[in-house]
This record gives sequence, C-alpha cells and structure tokens, in this order.
Amino acid sequence: MISLSGVEKWYGAFKALDNINMSVAKGEKIVLCGPSGSGKSTLIRCINHLEAYQKGDIHVGGIMLGHGSKTIDAVRREVGMVFQQFNLFPHLTVLQNCMLAPMKALGLDKAQTEDRARQLLERVKISEQADKYPAQLSGGQQQRVAIARALCMRPKAMLFDEPTSALDPEMVKEVLDTMISLAEEGMTMICVTHEMGFARQVADRVIFMASGAIVEEAPPAEFFSNPQHERTRKFLGEIL
Ligand code: ATP
Ligand code: MG
Repeated sequence: MISLSGVEKWYGAFKALDNINMSVAKGEKIVLCGPSGSGKSTLIRCINHLEAYQKGDIHVGGIMLGHGSKTIDAVRREVGMVFQQFNLFPHLTVLQNCMLAPMKALGLDKAQTEDRARQLLERVKISEQADKYPAQLSGGQQQRVAIARALCMRPKAMLFDEPTSALDPEMVKEVLDTMISLAEEGMTMICVTHEMGFARQVADRVIFMASGAIVEEAPPAEFFSNPQHERTRKFLGEIL
C-alpha cells in the first residue's frame, strides 16, 4: 500500500531523513515514535508530498511520487492526514470544512457530498455540531471534525501526526476511540503518537526513529518488553 525505499530528505545542509526503508501493507497499523526532532513529521509529510525529498522512492497505492503535480494530487486524494493543530478552515462551518475537498478535488456534486459529510460527522459522533464554526468547538471535537474531513475523501490510508498532543487530557480518549474504531474497520494507518496504550492496543508494528533513521521496529508486545537498542531503551525509559 505504502512503500519507501532509500528515502533521504535534506533541509539545506541538514539531513532530516537518512535512508528510510519501510513498507506498510493494506490494513496495517503502524505507530511511529521517537524523540523530538527525530524526523517523524518529516517522514509522514513526505508520504503525501507536503515535503519534497531528495533521494529514494515513495509509492502509495501503486502511484510513484515526485514526478509532476498530477501524481501528487492523486496521492493526496488517496491518503488523508490529521495534524496536531487540527488545521480546520476557521471561516467555514464543520459541514463546509468536510465538503470543500470532495467537491473541489473529486468534483462530487453538493447533495452527494453533503450526504457523505453528514454520515462521517455522525460516525465521529459530532453530527449535532455540523453548522458550528471550529472556534465554537472543543479541541477534541475539532480533531474529530478533522478526522471526518479527511475521511470524506474516502482515503485508502490515513496519516496522523500527534493528533492528541494539543488536547487537554480529558479529550484525548474521545479522539483515540475514534482512531481505534477506524483501525477496527481495517483502515491502513500510520500514526505518530506517544500514546503507548494506543500503540499496544492497535499497532501491528511500532517503528522507532532517532536522528532521521529507523532504529528498530517490532510488534508492540516485543517492542515494549524487549527493545533491542540502547536508544530505544532510553526513549522508553523517558516516556513510560
Ligand atoms: P517532534 O516530536 O518535535 O514533532 P519530529 O520527530 O516530528 O519532532 P521533524 O519535525 O520531522 O521531527 O524534524 C526533524 C528535524 O528536521 C529536526 O531537527 C528539525 O529541526 C528539522 N526541520 C524540520 N522542519 C524543518 C524546516 N522546515 N527547515 C529546517 N529544518 C527543519
Ligand atoms: Mg513532529
């Protein structure tokens, strides 16, 4: 479904990603973790081409990235992304936020898109907020809208970049529960998160990064009980 081979990313003279090789099968759930600055955001932003990269190949659902804007648009249609800071359009209502991309990028008509959007708002348990503006919602509600908005494109995979890090603690669970139900329905997911309970419950594999490279990866039971590398042990010691 998603594969990266030999990916290198530089910010000027700074190498942010170093020879990244990973592949994610359809339906697989990956938790990506690692210290601040290790390249987690850079990695998932490369997957839907929010960042350019200098070396290697990325394939998403059979589309090879990096050869003209047509493939970039195609990949962005296939892969939904949810950010730490929600990134909802403040001047649009919840419903309008969900309808914008499907109408613009997929060319769906208004009635069809509204149906789809209302269904997804229902699914993230927020349908009664459809006509509100983002600023009128709690952080947890805004993040669930962001998830619904991404799902409105019917993506084949979802990328999450620390979706609960900006939330007050009492709102973390409602967002994680939404992600868990998505996982249970078989969505292919790459989640950058330090919610290790979520990783244990949902991940097929945990990938640990440091200094722009993948240090180790393993199923959660193995990753947490028997980390192989000193850097991983140090990281787990700090967050658990
Ligand atoms: P965090 O846990 O803090 O979100 P991260 O693992 O997501 O960290 P990235 O944001 O991917 O880390 O950053 C990786 C490295 O690249 C960091 O050293 C960062 O300073 C650097 N970096 C990120 N974005 C840029 C940029 N636009 N220009 C220059 N350097 C950048
Ligand atoms: Mg980050």
